[in-house]
Amino acid sequence: MATKRLCDQDSYLKEFTAKLLRQGCDEDGTFYAVLDETAFYPTGGGQPCDTGFLDGVRVTHVEKDGDEIRHYLAQKLDESRSAIHAKIDWERRFDHMQQHAGQHILSAVFDDRLGMRTIAFHMGTDRCTIDLDIAELSEELAEEAETMANSIVLQNLLIQAKFVDHEDLLRYHLRKAPSVTENIRLVIIEGIDYNPCGGTHPVRTGEVGPIKILGWEAHRGHIRVSFNCGWRSLSLFKDEHRELGQLALLYNTRPEMVLSRTRKLEDQLKTWENECKSLRNRLIDFEVSQLGSLLNEESKNPVVAKRFEERPVKEIRELAGRVTKTYTRCTALFITSSGENVQIVCAQGSDARGDMKRTLSEVLPLIHGKGGGDASLAQGVGKLDVPPEKLFERLKSAVSHSTA
Ligand SMILES: [Zn+2]
Repeated sequence: MATKRLCDQDSYLKEFTAKLLRQGCDEDGTFYAVLDETAFYPTGGGQPCDTGFLDGVRVTHVEKDGDEIRHYLAQKLDESRSAIHAKIDWERRFDHMQQHAGQHILSAVFDDRLGMRTIAFHMGTDRCTIDLDIAELSEELAEEAETMANSIVLQNLLIQAKFVDHEDLLRYHLRKAPSVTENIRLVIIEGIDYNPCGGTHPVRTGEVGPIKILGWEAHRGHIRVSFNCGWRSLSLFKDEHRELGQLALLYNTRPEMVLSRTRKLEDQLKTWENECKSLRNRLIDFEVSQLGSLLNEESKNPVVAKRFEERPVKEIRELAGRVTKTYTRCTALFITSSGENVQIVCAQGSDARGDMKRTLSEVLPLIHGKGGGDASLAQGVGKLDVPPEKLFERLKSAVSHSTA
């Protein structure tokens, strides 16, 4: 038996009493109740369903099955009750009414004033989207649409919903063709929009509240515009205003100066980064010459070994690279430790004859570590369980094995 839809006539009906026709259980074990009439809106037409209570039992979602409307429940209802008291989550429903009517207005403006047709609508939990049949949207046109939509809101125009037959339908310039052939419900904002729609809307455009376009992006050859309306817009404004206020306090400036102050700081950061890079380079040059002075140039295989603490391995690797590039016969054996963690870098110049991968593999068991590399550069990581002197002793003897 078809459920009578009360929300089609009155979107403001928050509580009602109805007869329980039957209860059922879905394949996944969820109970549902069917009433003779309901004001609960079932999922459809881009609008999410209502939630609420039936006799104090939570209604988690509401779906249409043919002409029947099913209220899915947290638990089964007491079947001995002849009349069921129903209550809708009004805050959620009114939010849907604001978003839905806001979409009608925004789509009408994009269509009639800017020649951009809406081909899809989605109402999300925090933002809504419409897809426009255009390839790009400029900042100016988006702003123009937003302003025009808000001026329609402020005109506080009547939003009517009525059922029409096919003959009546011909009198109106419809925005889109109806998806049903009978019981066609037309939503009318006089002079603005004539739209076949089964959703819930407020009675005047003023109740939609502020319409705010949040952004847009290319989506499958069209433009997807994100927006929100009413309390959602106000809530977003409150959140963003608070954040901006805190940023302004942090910068000790006014909110409207935050952007220019941030850009200035970004420029300063770039300058500091460049200075830091140049100082680091000069430091490494200095270290290369210091380490070079320790080399025994008379030796057949000069080796430089050094331990660093709390220094990033990336830097150590760079230093090893620079030393062996400057002193091409030399082998550099560096370790850097942080607490009990240790990293080893073994590098050799182009005129050295060792094998760094083999050298490293000989000492890895000593640090219970792992690592790898090739003949000219190898790197390992492990735990510093032995005194560093012992580690260097083993590294040096491993170098002489590999050059023997
Ligand atoms: Zn609608």
